[in-house]
This record gives sequence, C-alpha cells and structure tokens, in this order.
Amino acid sequence: MSHVFHRQSNAAYPVAVAGDGPWLIDDQGRRYLDACGGAAVCCLGHSDATVREAIREQAESLAYAHSAFFTTRAAENLANHLIARAEAEIPDNRLDKVYFVSGGSEAAEAALKLARQYFLEIGQPTRHRVIARRQSYHGNTLGALSVGGNQWRREPFEPMLMPATHIAPCYAYRDRAEGESEEAYGRRAADELEAAILDLGSETVAAFIAEPVVGATAGAVPAVPGYLTRIRDICDRHGVLLILDEVMCGMGRTGHLFACAEDGVSPDILLSAKGLGAGYQPIGAMLCSARIHDAIAGGSGFFQHGHTYMGHATACAAALAVQRRLHDDGLLDNVGVQGSALRAALEAAFGQHPHVGDIRGRGLLLGLELVADRATKAPFDAAVRLNARVKREAMARGLMCYPMGGTIDGRRGDHVMLAPPFIIGPEHVSEIVEKLGQALAAALESTPAAARP
Ligand code: PLP
Repeated sequence: MSHVFHRQSNAAYPVAVAGDGPWLIDDQGRRYLDACGGAAVCCLGHSDATVREAIREQAESLAYAHSAFFTTRAAENLANHLIARAEAEIPDNRLDKVYFVSGGSEAAEAALKLARQYFLEIGQPTRHRVIARRQSYHGNTLGALSVGGNQWRREPFEPMLMPATHIAPCYAYRDRAEGESEEAYGRRAADELEAAILDLGSETVAAFIAEPVVGATAGAVPAVPGYLTRIRDICDRHGVLLILDEVMCGMGRTGHLFACAEDGVSPDILLSAKGLGAGYQPIGAMLCSARIHDAIAGGSGFFQHGHTYMGHATACAAALAVQRRLHDDGLLDNVGVQGSALRAALEAAFGQHPHVGDIRGRGLLLGLELVADRATKAPFDAAVRLNARVKREAMARGLMCYPMGGTIDGRRGDHVMLAPPFIIGPEHVSEIVEKLGQALAAALESTPAAARP
C-alpha cells in the first residue's frame, strides 16, 4: 500500500527506477519511450551525463544558500546566459532580468504580482486587471488558475479565483472562418484584446498573458503569423504589459530557444520552466524588462514576493548545464530536423484518419486533435474519456504520450500532444508513430459507438 498521495487515487502507477536516453525503465524492467518528455519537460532525455555531473559538482561545493542573504555563481551565470541568448535571438528584445523560481506556476504568480507592483511603483494604481485567453493553462496555483482558461481545471475552484477577463484564443482549426485568410483571422483574433481593453478601460488593465504555442489545454496550437505582432502593438498602444508564458513551448521545444523569437515579438515578461532544467532539477524563471525592474529598484526597492527555494544553487547549476548542452551541441538543429520528420510521419499515418481532425505544432511540440467526425469537427463525448484510453493503451505498448481533454466551445474535446526529447533520432520517430497508431486504434475500438455524435 502506497502512502504517496498520487494525483489519480486509484491508478496503479509503474515504479520508474532508471532512465536511458529517451527511455524510462520501471522496476519490472519494462521500457517506455518518452514521446512527451513527461509534460514537455525532459528535453535531454533521462540520463544526461553532463547535467548529472554539474549537479554533483554544485551539490558538493554548495547545495543551497537562501536568496535573502546571498546570490550564487550558479544563479548569476544562468541569468547571464539566458539574457545573452534573449539578446541574440529575440528581435527588439526587452528582457534583461531573471527572477528564479521552482516551476511554471510560481513563474506565473510572480509575473502577475510583478505586473501589479510595477503599476503601483509608476503611479498607476488603478491598473490591476489581467486579460487572458479561454484556451490556456498557466498553472494550478490559485493566481495562475484564475488567469488560465481551462474550464475543467477551473470549475471546482471557481468561487476562490480572482476575477480575470478571458478573450478568444488564436485557434485557426476551429475559429478561422471559411475563406478567411490566416492574416485576417489573426487580426480578428488579436483585435478581441483591444476590444476587451477598451471595454474594461485601459487605465484598469495591467497585463495580457498568453502562450505563444498553447500546450496542455489544446495540444500544441501555435498562433497564426502576425497575431502576436498585433498583440504586441495593442499592448504598447494601451500601456498594457505583455506576459508570454513559454513554460511549455520555450527553451528550444519549438526549435527556437524562445518561442516568441519565431513570431518576432519580445514580451515585457516571459515565463520559463520545464525545459529550463529539463527535469534534472525543479526550476522556473520569470524574465522581465529593465524598465519593470528599474521602476521597482528606483521606487520601493523591493519586489514584494519570494519563495524559499528561489535561485536554488543546485537547480541553477543543472539548468545552466542543460542550456549549455542545447547551445554548444546544436541540439536545436535536431529539434528542427526531427520535428519535421515527426510531423511528416504523423501526416502520413494520420492525415486521412477519420478521427484525427488536425495535426499541428512547431518543432518537437506537436499535437493531434481527435474528433468524432472530421467533417463537422464534433468532439467525442467527454464521458468516454478518449484521451485517458489513448494514454492507457500507449503505456501498455511502452510509449509515453500526453493525451488531454481541452475545452472546445464549452465542451471537452480530446487531443494527443507529443514533445519528445531533443536527442531523438529517426528510429524513435518511427517507433512513436507506429505505437501511437496502435494505441489510438485500440482506444477507439474500446470506445462505445454511442459516444460518437
Ligand atoms: N504554464 C504553462 C504553459 C504550462 O504548460 C504549465 C504546466 O504544464 C504551467 C504554466 C505550470 O507549470 P508547473 O506545472 O511547473 O507549475
């Protein structure tokens, strides 16, 4: 009997005991190809010798020093590296300071409070509202959940959430009108932000938060070209801070270290986690502009926030080793190569599949949307939990993928997300697609026909 409070109470989880490249191994010796990096975390696989060595070295000299008393070389070096990369890669980069935390939700909480405090410091105390998108996930803590748009995650806690305004996502598969160009659709979707700002009164709006490529809630949905540029422009015109959440899509997952670089847009605040430490240590970060930082430095002088483990030396050393591996070993090139190969293989295997409505994503963050009917795009009945069936069947075949239910027009729909480590090769691509095909077939076979509208 386990005393661990597992997230799913009655599930019999295998016991993971070892990692071998992109594989996890359980205590029965079974091997699982990690085609989703857990939750888009493990970008270097599970046995990277360089990162392990960096952790050992740091832990042996200094594991941790509280950030209210000390900074550490590990934290300083990692911050320098991240800002140097942002300068090199993001057009008109605004990011200049790095605030370390332990994960994605903490990064989101810090960003929301920073946005609020910034406007207090510059004498605009009425700005406190946050606008977000209906199709989004920014974390499970109450602040992050408040701005997130995933109904299933929000519903039980709705009375405890802070008010936030949600606009439409940029979700071309379902929302682009027939005959509408991508550009026109992107403009229409972005203009919802301006309408919301005007409706609320721009003097009350502190920030807009969005994922450049929507992850867990929708299964790898990138914005159409031009959408984020227009969002940037709208934020600037109304004095609203732009927070881009790259917890899942950042740190090379889309082929760029910063996903926003591909859109040619720099946010005022950027959230990072997952691939930052690649799962070797729990670490997240909030990057912000000098303008925001300096308003506080020249004002109250104190950001009223903080956590015990922020800037944890061992976590920072691990993350720096991860980042150096990505940069020095050109691993993002492999994201491009294997990402294209995986996408092509998915198109070949599922492009005509009657229950795969859309195949999408960027780099090694790819998604399949599962539909009951390709023509009408009607989702499966949520009660049959198709995504859970796919996950079960995939695990039974030694494949980890990330099937989830998203929200479509207020109803839940299903998608499968793939986010394998950046170290995969063609043999892994073939195995992922083959086993996913088997898992999907088995899951559909076990789905009652009545569940299909
Ligand atoms: N933001 C995004 C885009 C995420 O995908 C996630 C987690 O999946 C989070 C925030 C929350 O991160 P964490 O689970 O590390 O708190």
